[in-house]
Amino acid sequence: MSVPIVRTVAELRAVVAGWRRSDASVAVVPTMGALHDGHLSLVRAALQKAERVIVTLFVNPKQFNSAADLAAYPRTENQDAAKLAPLGAQLLYVPDAEEMYPPGFATTVSVSGVREGLCGAFRPGHFDGVATVVAKLFLQTGADFAFFGEKDFQQLQLVRRVVQDLDIPITVVPCPTVREADGLALSSRNARLSPAERAIAPNLALVLIETAERLARGSPVLPTLAEARAAILAAGFRDIEYLELRGETDLQPMTSLDRPARLLAASWLGETRLIDNVRTSPIGSTN
Ligand code: AMP
Repeated sequence: MSVPIVRTVAELRAVVAGWRRSDASVAVVPTMGALHDGHLSLVRAALQKAERVIVTLFVNPKQFNSAADLAAYPRTENQDAAKLAPLGAQLLYVPDAEEMYPPGFATTVSVSGVREGLCGAFRPGHFDGVATVVAKLFLQTGADFAFFGEKDFQQLQLVRRVVQDLDIPITVVPCPTVREADGLALSSRNARLSPAERAIAPNLALVLIETAERLARGSPVLPTLAEARAAILAAGFRDIEYLELRGETDLQPMTSLDRPARLLAASWLGETRLIDNVRTSPIGSTN
């Protein structure tokens, strides 16, 4: 069975209104398409939680800070629809840029604090674009639940902030990062890696996981992070944008592991930028 596709806000609202007449709960899974098992895990989790699931495919021009990156982003609607069909999602929402941002569009949702640092420091405007599009998708779908991956951890915290600050009646549900057998976090960008780069790529996750364990056992934060940077570069990564320990809920920088935290990194492998993060907390803490 193929998944019905709608492309306009009006069609989307008509379908959701029909569901609401029978009191069905609704979840939305926002994606930019080029679906992989990480995305599909979000859809499966959404289907467990809600009676109706909308998957959105929209390559959001406002969250790209490079025209070349936007142009190179894979667009694979037919394959995406085929991957979703066996799962049982009820609707695919595929608006085009004109539908989302018609002439005269002038509003930006901008979240201070959470968007600063980490990816925000290297991708100017990116998180304003994300905040604006998710606010629109939440209002357009009127969903009860929204599913996001921990893979994009700063994005997840940003979305939570938007929902809280704008009183949007939706529950944000985080989902764990799905990885390849060798540890590499699934990402649409992995397809750009050469075979040699693909062999190096898992080292980002492996170093993060090992470093998180060392920190949990009490290894001092700053020297341990310096060793982790050196290990990532030694593995063959070209450059590290950031490698930081931040508070799990507030994303504040941490210099000692005194509460649950995330170790987050962005690093360039050839011409591909990979991001990843893992959780860590002091051994003995109940969190
Ligand atoms: P994207 O299409 O890259 O914007 O991602 C759409 C959603 O899928 C976001 O909530 C991502 O965090 C999530 N996602 C991407 N990769 C993974 C992964 N490897 N595991 C779990 N969720 C993921």
